[in-house]
Amino acid sequence: MLEIKSLNVYYGEFQALFEVSLRVLEGETVITVGPNGAGKSTLLKTISGLFRPRSGTITFLGKRIDGLPAHRIVEMGIAQVPEGGWLFPQLTVLENLKVGSYLKGSRREYAPTLKDIYRLFPILDERKKQVADTLSGGERQMLAIARSLMSRPKLILLDEPSSGLAPRVVSRVFEFVKQIKATGYAILMVEQNVRKALHLSDRAYLMESGRVHKEGVRQSFLDDPYIKKAYIGL
Ligand code: ATP
Repeated sequence: MLEIKSLNVYYGEFQALFEVSLRVLEGETVITVGPNGAGKSTLLKTISGLFRPRSGTITFLGKRIDGLPAHRIVEMGIAQVPEGGWLFPQLTVLENLKVGSYLKGSRREYAPTLKDIYRLFPILDERKKQVADTLSGGERQMLAIARSLMSRPKLILLDEPSSGLAPRVVSRVFEFVKQIKATGYAILMVEQNVRKALHLSDRAYLMESGRVHKEGVRQSFLDDPYIKKAYIGL
């Protein structure tokens, strides 16, 4: 579904990604782990068209998307949930969801998509008139994820969905992600909570200093002594 080859991304003269290659297959959940500053967010932002790579290619469903503007990439079926959610705090739950379907194609499908989302997350239906700012941290993250689904994506990029949340809430957020995965969406997720995220994933990548250092199926990461020591804390 998504194929990234030899991606090099710079901020001015500073190189943030070095020859990064990665792929996500249809229906797969892939997690990228690594320390702060490894380039994980840069990778997601480059896929979603916020940054242009200096070299390398990004192919989505057989079409090159590197260099396309972000709104075109959303139209093609990739939605990003940025770290912290970036909701419109003074808008209601429903208004935030509406914002997610601003593109022509998804606007046409607005009513059935909203129905699907309310079925998946009934609490958003109950709270639809509530101002986003007054939701709990976990509910805000749920709303941010749900908003991304309003564009009817095929691939969802999740940047640190558990960031800033209390441990009890983190488990709930991972439950939402699990539900979305079960619905058949492909997910590429960056996450600090490596153990929980690995359990949810099919495959994983380890990034350090802007480079991919390891790629493998979930179990190969769970069994890797270095991953266990550095990222799982065992
Ligand atoms: P974190 O988990 O802390 O967000 P990360 O793995 O997502 O880390 P990135 O945010 O992608 O890492 O950052 C990769 C590198 O690029 C870091 O060295 C960071 O300082 C640098 N960087 C990120 N954004 C910018 C920017 N807008 N301008 C210049 N350098 C940046």
